[in-house]
Amino acid sequence: MYDPKSLKAEEFIDHAEILETLDYAEKNKNNKELIEQILEKARPRKTARGTECAGLSHREASVLLACEDPELICKMYTLAEEIKKAFYGNRIVMFAPLYLSNYCVNKCVYCPYHNQNHHIPRKKLTLEEVAKEVIALQDMGHKRLAIEAGEDPVNNPIEYILECINTIYSIKHKNGAIRRVNVNIAATTVENYRKLKEAGIGTYILFQETYHKESYETLHPAGPKHNYAYHTEAMDRAMDGGIDDVGLGVLFGLELYKYEFAGLLMHAEHLEAVHGVGPHTISVPRIKRADDIDPTVFDNGIDDDTFAKIIACIRIAVPYTGMIVSTRESEACRNKVLSLGISQISGGSRTSVGGYAGYTPEERPHDTEQFDVSDQRSLDEVVRWLMELGYIPSFCTACYREGRTGDRFMSLCKTGQIQNCCHPNALMTLKEFLEDYASPETKALGEKLITEELKTIPNEKARRLATEYIENIHEGKRDFRF
Ligand code: SAM
Repeated sequence: MYDPKSLKAEEFIDHAEILETLDYAEKNKNNKELIEQILEKARPRKTARGTECAGLSHREASVLLACEDPELICKMYTLAEEIKKAFYGNRIVMFAPLYLSNYCVNKCVYCPYHNQNHHIPRKKLTLEEVAKEVIALQDMGHKRLAIEAGEDPVNNPIEYILECINTIYSIKHKNGAIRRVNVNIAATTVENYRKLKEAGIGTYILFQETYHKESYETLHPAGPKHNYAYHTEAMDRAMDGGIDDVGLGVLFGLELYKYEFAGLLMHAEHLEAVHGVGPHTISVPRIKRADDIDPTVFDNGIDDDTFAKIIACIRIAVPYTGMIVSTRESEACRNKVLSLGISQISGGSRTSVGGYAGYTPEERPHDTEQFDVSDQRSLDEVVRWLMELGYIPSFCTACYREGRTGDRFMSLCKTGQIQNCCHPNALMTLKEFLEDYASPETKALGEKLITEELKTIPNEKARRLATEYIENIHEGKRDFRF
């Protein structure tokens, strides 16, 4: 029986409710009147507090996803863009993954790190190697990382992850610094989540892979990850451990996308109902080719149009949640989905253990790679491309460092107030990037963009402070933030 307030996975991700939702969506997929009503409900409105959006329930959003009428889909995309602009403006936050270890005791059938893969080299970074990777990432211009590791209590215990986080934060190379470390490690205990919180992590990210319990158990045939309830209830333990920014995601291609979509939104509803705050981010990875993994053996792959529709529908349903697209996606695909709701992308990524230090931007080691990267451009190229498309690449990490996390972030975001900080912060951190790391071509384009964008900051004091900081940045000043 569906109960978003329940702490039991099978009750807040209720299989029967998902099936009923899919049935309801299928029956109403051509119900123009209902779809117009749903779009109307989701539209941003000016209120006394600012701009607000009502969001949608998993049932309403599933009707949108099922709709096949081109005219209504076009309206959906326009609305998704409008919502994105209202809360995220034209900013795109940049990050990179950092693979710490590919030792893993699980048997996930889609991942080359599964423990039956005996020919892939196993590697775990020493702290000296972590430092080298961080210096290489800082030299590219990154300020925000997502650390990644397989699950292995012997090789990658929580103490190892914590030491890596401390090392990452301690490295200050030239003008570089990693100011936010997000963590994507296996589901763990409240006690370990508390330790991660104390280590100063940003978001705790854990992909559900699939919300379909039976498929989940088949796709994870053994190892600790086999336990569906333990995995699905991980975000509740993370929040009980004090982490209030959590990142959801499913691996599209494993199960029917409409099922996953409903499950994902039910998970978001559950977090909001129990903890008073929804997910900070939602990621939308798709299965990629990898060492001994052939993505074509999975029956539920989705094409680029369906992928874009999912992103637009998520944007409309959970307007305040950041959305992440990684370098699993090509430049063309990323181009298409940026305007539909994506707020964060990775750039210059390496998905192997020790893939950054000692390699030129063109060289990429494949030995320990988790999956094939489609967007192989350097960070500088991605930054320039974003600006050419009219976006502001942002290296901002201010929110969580200023305590704007969890419900504080959400309530500021919900009224659109977050933009008073985010827009100037984006411009100031972009200027830092241009000054310290950009190619002359990227720098010239960025300087022009910053000059224009500074004029649009509505708050006079914020405009003056941002302008002053940006003018003085070459004198060695760094890390001013609102
Ligand atoms: N070991 C942790 C866990 O079990 O959640 C961390 C996960 S792993 C380093 C990061 C994510 O990569 C996984 O959650 C999975 O969704 C994704 N992944 C695994 N194999 C993949 C593949 N072949 N293509 C694309 N993404 C993949």
